Amino acid sequence: MTLKQALDEGVLLLESAKISDAKIDAWYLLSFITGISRADYFLRQNDAMDEEPYAKYQEALRRRASHIPLQHITGEQDFMGLTFRVNEHVLIPRQDTETLVEQTLKEIPEGSRILDLCTGSGCVIISLVVLGKELTGVGVDISDEALAVARDNGARLAGDRVDFIHSDLFDSVTGKFDCIVSNPPYIPSKDIEELEPEVKDHEPRLALDGTEDGLLFYRNITKEAHDYLNQGGWLLVEIGYDQGESVSQLFIDNGFKEVEVIRDLAGNNRVVKGHL
Ligand code: GLN
Repeated sequence: MTLKQALDEGVLLLESAKISDAKIDAWYLLSFITGISRADYFLRQNDAMDEEPYAKYQEALRRRASHIPLQHITGEQDFMGLTFRVNEHVLIPRQDTETLVEQTLKEIPEGSRILDLCTGSGCVIISLVVLGKELTGVGVDISDEALAVARDNGARLAGDRVDFIHSDLFDSVTGKFDCIVSNPPYIPSKDIEELEPEVKDHEPRLALDGTEDGLLFYRNITKEAHDYLNQGGWLLVEIGYDQGESVSQLFIDNGFKEVEVIRDLAGNNRVVKGHL
């Protein structure tokens, strides 16, 4: 079995299982297991593949064919140029969410202290403190399993610059911050069944379900944020593509100024921001 034969076989298997990015995923699994780069592959595609990596590759393909997300098989996802460890207890970092990090970095001054609500894997707060200047932060989540993942990512990528605490939104949060960020669950409950199997069957419901109209978390966050923000402090949240109007209204109703809706790279409304 050559590397090329193994790759072709993987693509066929994933295509027949109706995996949408069959070619990309088969390549990614082959590369992840063998450690081979794209350039090496082109030089060595007719080399034989050893039995042990081939068996591992087969097992990985079998799992991917059953719609287990690629990132649950590899245990990692890149976000803002950093590699985060993930498992079934956290939402897999999305490229869309990079818009939230970019907008935050654009608005906050050096030395800011940031609170991240519904931190999950910790990808938002960790990228902020790694990429920003002299930033520190606190990430909170209601899930202890998610906090274990976030603490592991934090220790590896951001040293001791982020604290992670167990809290239902602001319940156990103390002190004031210069900025609050959040990518809360925002999918209306009735829409969850429509999501692809990778998401609906394998990612935590707790990280997706925004209750009946998808807006519960935004209501609670915008209502309480001013008690935890310094004067002039920023609030930035990720939203669903159709929530721009309702979430900016919540910002305005709760006294936020210069409220703006920002689009992601795909052109969808993705972030609402404003300051006190
Ligand atoms: N954007 C995510 C998705 O489409 C949902 C993220 C969230 O609810 N915070 O699956």
